[in-house]
Amino acid sequence: MTQHREAVAPAELVVDLDALAANIATIRARVAPAEPMLVVKDDAYAHGLVPIVTRAWREGVRWIGALDVTTGMQVREALGDEARIFAWMLAGADDIADAIAARLDCGVGSEPLLDEIAAAAGDEPVAVHLKIDTGLHRNGVRPERWQAFVAQAHEYELAGRIRVAGIWSHIAEASDDDDDVSRDVFDTAVAAARAAGLRPQKLHLAASAAAFARPEFRYDMVRIGAFAYGIRSTDGPADADLGITPIATLHAGVRHVSADAVVIDAGWNAVPSTAANQVAIQTPAGPRAVNRIGSDLIVCEPWPAVPGDRLALFGGSALESATDIAERIGTIGEEIVLRISPEIPRRYLP
Ligand SMILES: *Cc1c(COP(=O)(O)O)cnc(C)c1O
Repeated sequence: MTQHREAVAPAELVVDLDALAANIATIRARVAPAEPMLVVKDDAYAHGLVPIVTRAWREGVRWIGALDVTTGMQVREALGDEARIFAWMLAGADDIADAIAARLDCGVGSEPLLDEIAAAAGDEPVAVHLKIDTGLHRNGVRPERWQAFVAQAHEYELAGRIRVAGIWSHIAEASDDDDDVSRDVFDTAVAAARAAGLRPQKLHLAASAAAFARPEFRYDMVRIGAFAYGIRSTDGPADADLGITPIATLHAGVRHVSADAVVIDAGWNAVPSTAANQVAIQTPAGPRAVNRIGSDLIVCEPWPAVPGDRLALFGGSALESATDIAERIGTIGEEIVLRISPEIPRRYLP
């Protein structure tokens, strides 16, 4: 017997903001006395920017890491004047003007960008965070040019064009030994900046993994993205050990039922097809293997389902998390979450 119904409620991503608050509390306790900056690039890792920053602000988060200026401006709009908003991808005069107008803290990883910002500053000095390249070669001033860079920054500071609010870098968090080398480079750069007369209040180096695992990487502030959303690292500590839970769950509805399969309307491209035969979903009749994944349909082992039944495919209230799926197919949890199409509606709890 095949049942069929056309109108199945579409997939939706349900985001539990209380779970976000709980993750933030865990993070704060873990990294104290360092302060967490909540990183919200890529539309808050696909969870939806404004609801995420609004709740985080209510939970006491005062620093938001935007990445780009457009996101920074949206956060300013959502949170008002008091928020400290860090943007570290600025390209061109318009971006710089927008960043200054929105009073963003600007990450500066090159000499020309420092010059442009100093030239564009108005009456108020622009808050900048100078970036040393500690080995990732992903933007940042190389150690051999750092001395001249901080001397120039000090001159701009004396002229009232900028204020060096921070010094920062980004590390790979792939090997402790490499990270240790990066940390030495960072410490040397901070000492040189101080010797040049700078007084940065915020030193920040670590993202989620190092912030949790390695206290000596915390300095004044840590930039937390993944763990705030409950996305643990591939092959890293379990959620329970970290004290975090995935804050989002992808829900979808049953479309067809036959004797040998249940077909789920999963939403456009929600789950990578390579995960077929490697993941399972929880059903009222127990776990069922996912046998085939198409661009918008998922075919599962059968159970006595009815078209329209709702199921949790992955995330906080599902059998598997994004990172669980990622580990089976050799990727990272962020990639699973970020491929959830913007067409799939987000719904927020509570
Ligand atoms: C994305 C990003 C982070 C956050 O990393 P997570 O591993 O998600 O915590 C921190 N810093 C920079 C510069 C980033 O681009």
